[in-house]
Amino acid sequence: MSREPVSLEKAHPLQKALRQNRRSELRMGHPLIHTSLGSEVLDTPHSRIPVSASDGARKEGDTLRKAWMTAGFVIGAMIFLPAAPRAQWKTPWSYSGADGPAHWAQLDPAYAACGGKEQSPINIQNSVKSHLPAMKFELKNGPLDIVNNGYTAVRVDYAPGNGNFVFVGGERYELTQFHFHHPSEEFINGRYYTMGMHFMLKSSNGKTAGIAIMVNVAGANHPAEPPVENVVDTLWKYMPTKAGKPHVIPGVEINPAGLIPRDTAYYVYMGSVTAPPCTEGVKWYVLKTPVTISRERIEAFAKLYPHDVRPPQPLNGRVVEESK
Ligand SMILES: [Zn+2]
Repeated sequence: MSREPVSLEKAHPLQKALRQNRRSELRMGHPLIHTSLGSEVLDTPHSRIPVSASDGARKEGDTLRKAWMTAGFVIGAMIFLPAAPRAQWKTPWSYSGADGPAHWAQLDPAYAACGGKEQSPINIQNSVKSHLPAMKFELKNGPLDIVNNGYTAVRVDYAPGNGNFVFVGGERYELTQFHFHHPSEEFINGRYYTMGMHFMLKSSNGKTAGIAIMVNVAGANHPAEPPVENVVDTLWKYMPTKAGKPHVIPGVEINPAGLIPRDTAYYVYMGSVTAPPCTEGVKWYVLKTPVTISRERIEAFAKLYPHDVRPPQPLNGRVVEESK
């Protein structure tokens, strides 16, 4: 998603918040401003900062305005800068409360799709068994470009032309990023899993797909899987404990192939991106076979993000197919 330039004609979110006296949000440290807007914050015309002075008291108004400016900068620097990683989103959102999933569609006209008819995730049940093509993976070792973006502790980004491909349904998709949720966003037959992984893909003709992989806790019932453990080991070693910007870890490489279960039978349906702007037209492949991650690592993630999931969305007549 490209960062949208801030229109100077529009009131700055900080100013809006101050005007609406959204003290609770300020206290909560909501990311009303982020670092990518740093220069804009300083460049924003200050005449829009709320001033209670009447025309007859312009001088006092100016003084007050200056006080507000200072307050704005200080608050901005103290509270909002840590939210920098959410820079991808102009309007803040969260997984609960007033800007939680039930309200996403109303937060910003750009998020209108969140109220659409083909949203994700879903609870997968009553799927239709079909002859579906097998999935083929062409994944390889590459640099670790990792970010804790304020919504997940681990997202690994891949630049266009990275050469990691997934072939399915007559399409060749390139990997754009993968990330983790705690717990899983998808439900399968009414059940969610301890964690979920999302691999996001794009084809050269602009089609978007996602692969969802469920995660169980490794233990007596679910033996640990060395290939998964190896990759997770590296990811968790460099998992940023604080939200920040994407950064490449020098000299460290990972191969996402280690995270893919051996059996790649899947469910498939048409859905959306599971976070604002909830863009539809995403073909979701939900793998039937889960992988395992150690309890210790799951707990380390959950400490940072205990519940970064959108609840299941209505199916609205969509058919979920299941490969045999
Ligand atoms: Zn996701």
